[in-house]
Formats: sequence, structure tokens, C-alpha cells
Amino acid sequence: MSHHKIIVIGTGPAGYTAAIYASRANLAPLVFEGAQPGGQLTITTEVENYPGFREGIMGPALMDEMRAQAERFGTVIKAETVLKADLASSPRTITTDQGTYTCDALIIATGASAKWMGIRKDEELSRTGGGVSACATCDGFFFRGKEIAVVGGGDTALEEATFLTKFASKVTLIHRRDRLRASKAMQERAMRNEKIAFKWNAVVEDILTRDHDLPTGGTVAKVATLKLKDTVTGASEDLPVEGLFVAIGHQPNTSLFTGQLPMNEAGYLDVEPGSTRTPVAGVFACGDVQDHQYRQAITAAGSGCMAAIDAERWLSEHG
Ligand code: FAD
Repeated sequence: MSHHKIIVIGTGPAGYTAAIYASRANLAPLVFEGAQPGGQLTITTEVENYPGFREGIMGPALMDEMRAQAERFGTVIKAETVLKADLASSPRTITTDQGTYTCDALIIATGASAKWMGIRKDEELSRTGGGVSACATCDGFFFRGKEIAVVGGGDTALEEATFLTKFASKVTLIHRRDRLRASKAMQERAMRNEKIAFKWNAVVEDILTRDHDLPTGGTVAKVATLKLKDTVTGASEDLPVEGLFVAIGHQPNTSLFTGQLPMNEAGYLDVEPGSTRTPVAGVFACGDVQDHQYRQAITAAGSGCMAAIDAERWLSEHG
């Protein structure tokens, strides 16, 4: 069993940024990368909104850069998944699929995963730039002048649909019931928006694609038609669209901390406002695992920086 001043769980933008700051503060962080080395951006193509890359950058390339930057300052990254975190023990004990480690300060950067519909191709098309997305802020810009659809019935779905009308010529909101879960104010705003149409009692059964030529050669399959099924009558219908936004929620990766750290009803970790401190001394949380609002690479990286600074200050007082 080895002891470390700081352990970071996760290698998305939050974990890598925490590692860059902690290693430059001479804290020699140990980082566990888990099942998705590089985090969520490794399953996307072009990232156009991360500052510093005027032409955009591919998600996996951006994460490779962050990893190399963390390693340059001495961060040790292990290809291990944390199976247990004992936050009551002193020092804190972390058990992975390959060993047991202890630390003075722990930074949790385990992220969140978008929920997909579980039908043929939705997640796959989101990885290949095929016109399916779970993030309007990230990808709305690619759908200027196009007809698109949003699936969902909560606040997020209506917020995404309303935001997307800035770009799309028409947004069809597909909801499995005949009434929305979203707040009254959000519903009224969406209903007033002439670009939003509603498809009630409907689910997406299949996504049909069409091949598009790429400027670099080759082709990419992109959304062309949604096969809808009426949840009441069972009737089928085709909806021609060029994009599909899935807004049925996110799953924060917090099961390791159930019963040990406070979470909101959706499972996101609670941190002290304006900081990354959890109620457990020396335990900090950053990135999407504690952020159900912004969920962006830059905000995750920003809070990773905060977590390293919070941890460094805590260690200098308690370490
Ligand atoms: P994540 O990126 O989710 O990383 C979590 C890390 O924790 C992973 O490395 C995982 O392996 C690790 N982990 C989890 N559990 C364990 C465990 N038990 N043990 C060890 N490690 C563990 N944002 C933008 O700003 N611009 C975009 O264009 C953009 N496009 C996106 C496209 C897609 C398809 C998706 C899904 C997201 C996109 N986002 C975009 C959102 C952005 O990717 C996230 O906001 C960001 O990655 C969150 O970073 P994070 O570090 O908090 O967590």
C-alpha cells in the first residue's frame, strides 16, 4: 500500500487540470483514469468552444494534450478503476481493481454520463459526428438553418429546444407523454416560440441515416429520418430531420460515495458554494460530478484548478 499527498480520481478535463496544478505545486498527485481515459471528450469529434484553439480541436487530441501537460510536471497516471473509497478512514483509503492506496487529500473528478435512449445507433452517431448530441451548447452551432428534433420533457429538454431555435429553422420536441414535466414558465416560453413544434405521445424507435461526403475524403453517416412510434395508438411515423438532441438526463458517477458524501436528488455531489470542498475534510469534488448546470469542458477544467488550489491550501494547514 503506498501513501500519497493527493489522489485524483478521473482523467477528464477536471481531473487533468487538477493534476497539472497539483503537480506544479510539488504535490506529486497520483491519478486513476478509470474506464474512460480522457473522459467524455474522447467520444466526440470536433470541439470548437475550448479556448486556445481557434480552428477547433478533436476531442481525443485535446485530452491527449492535457494528459501530456500533467505528465510533464510529474503526475503519475494509473490505468486503474476505483472500486471503493473509504472516506471515514484516516488517511483516506482508495481501493482500485489493482491495489490499495492512501492519501491525505482526495480530488473526485469522476464526471457524468449522458443518458441515451438505448435504441440502435443513438450513442454511436453521437461519437462519430453523425448528428446526434446530448449537448445543445456544444453542438447547436453545427445545425444552422436545419430541421432538428429534441427528445425529452423536462426543463433541460425545453431549455435545449429553446436554445436550439437560435440556429435551427425548426425544432420538434418529441415527448413520450401528452404533458411535460418542465416548469410552467419554461413550458410557456417554449410554446410561444414559433420555431418549436411538439410531437406528443411519441418515442424514437429508429434513426435512419444518409451518407455524406467528407471534405477530407470518405463518407460519414448522418441522421436523415427518425422513425417515431405513437405510445398510445402504436402507429408509426417518419420525421425527416438532420439532427437529434437527446435531453433525457445525465448520470453522475457518484455511486462510490453513496452514504459518505451528500448528493442532490439526481446524484450530483454537493460542494460548498464558491469552492470545491465537500463536507468531509480534505475531500474535494470538481467537474461534471458536482455540476448539473454547465457541464462544459472549460467549466470542468476551471473547477479542477479550484480543487487543486483548495487541496493545496488544505494540505498546508493540515498536512
Ligand atoms: P469526464 O470527462 O466525464 O471524465 C470523468 C473521468 O472519471 C473519466 O476519465 C472516467 O474514466 C473517470 N472515472 C469515473 N469513475 C471512475 C472510477 N470509479 N475510477 C477511476 N476513474 C473513474 N463540452 C465542451 O465544452 N465542448 C464540447 O464541444 C463538448 N462536446 C461534448 C460531446 C459529447 C459527445 C459529450 C458526451 C460531452 C461533450 N462536452 C463538451 C461536455 C464535456 O465533455 C464534459 O463537460 C467534460 O468532459 C466533463 O469533464 P469531467 O472532467 O468533469 O468528467
